Amino acid sequence: MINLLQIKGKHNLVIKAIASEPLGKDRVRICIKRVSLCGSDYKLFEGLYGAPETYPVIFGHEWSGVVTETGDGVKDLATGDHVTGDCSLYCGVCENCKHDKNLCENIKKAGITSDGYARSEVVADARYIYKAPESISFKALALAEPFAVAYRAIAGLLNEKKGLSDKNILIIGCGAIGMAAYLLLRYKWQKMKIDVFDVDDRRVEFLGSITGDILNVFKPENCGNNDYASLYSKKKYDMVFEMAGNAGALDEALNAVKPGGKIVTIGIYGKIEADMGLITLKKITLYGSIGGTGAFEEVIEFLKDFGNVAEKIVTHEYLYTDADKAFMIQDDSGAPAVKRQLIFEE
Ligand SMILES: [Zn+2]
Ligand SMILES: [Zn+2]
Repeated sequence: MINLLQIKGKHNLVIKAIASEPLGKDRVRICIKRVSLCGSDYKLFEGLYGAPETYPVIFGHEWSGVVTETGDGVKDLATGDHVTGDCSLYCGVCENCKHDKNLCENIKKAGITSDGYARSEVVADARYIYKAPESISFKALALAEPFAVAYRAIAGLLNEKKGLSDKNILIIGCGAIGMAAYLLLRYKWQKMKIDVFDVDDRRVEFLGSITGDILNVFKPENCGNNDYASLYSKKKYDMVFEMAGNAGALDEALNAVKPGGKIVTIGIYGKIEADMGLITLKKITLYGSIGGTGAFEEVIEFLKDFGNVAEKIVTHEYLYTDADKAFMIQDDSGAPAVKRQLIFEE
């Protein structure tokens, strides 16, 4: 029997036991070790997810595990391999898949529109699974997906030839994805100075404490947009990462970015109000980014070297049988809750 966690609807989380699935030729059986909770999981639980979803659903798309059995057609994975995998379940053959599998016409999202990984055992298509070195902890490996999401947001803004050394960068929103972006920029791209902002000062402090960096905190100010001198001279950021997922953050990004600068937004769903006229006035390039597929290999390389720092963003750990506590916890006085993780097997 396997144990699974299913969200049936708003505030309706159940634990169930079901029989193991049969394997299949191109599939692998995986014993799940850890599942990280994502903003989308909380929203599914609250009934507030603004993008396509399905109920009931076995949630969980940020995970780590170990392969326990492989189908006859599986070549690149073996029993005992430490693994993680895609949230974007792409078809691989449609027109969009040629350019970006996260935009697949036939996409399903693991743990959101189809059953995911919050279960003691899963049978998954091998093509969605990535092998990782055993030196990466299961705690860090269960962060590969959000780091891949952040990685692609960064890569979408980069001009490979020029790099980042002369760029002024601001990250708005120091939740898990904002912190992942910071850590990637800081350690993989070796960008030493990155300005940050979060409405909760404790998150910024926490980020400083896990990196040892003295962070420069952006101070929102109304620079005045009534004349071109203030529009064009007082803004200093070449790139702004909007990682908070609210209208205020996008508004702030539009204000703070330099003329000709770039903003990437990954947290916003649904209609919001922001001063979009600034896109024209300042010739801003506004990017969207979604999904992590396409960056898992790079992120696994990153976690090999920096997994010990990355895993520090896991601030709360629970046995999966206590998942309701992980979802319901309201009081996070003291250390801020950045990433909560469920343990299926130590
Ligand atoms: Zn996620
Ligand atoms: Zn496709």
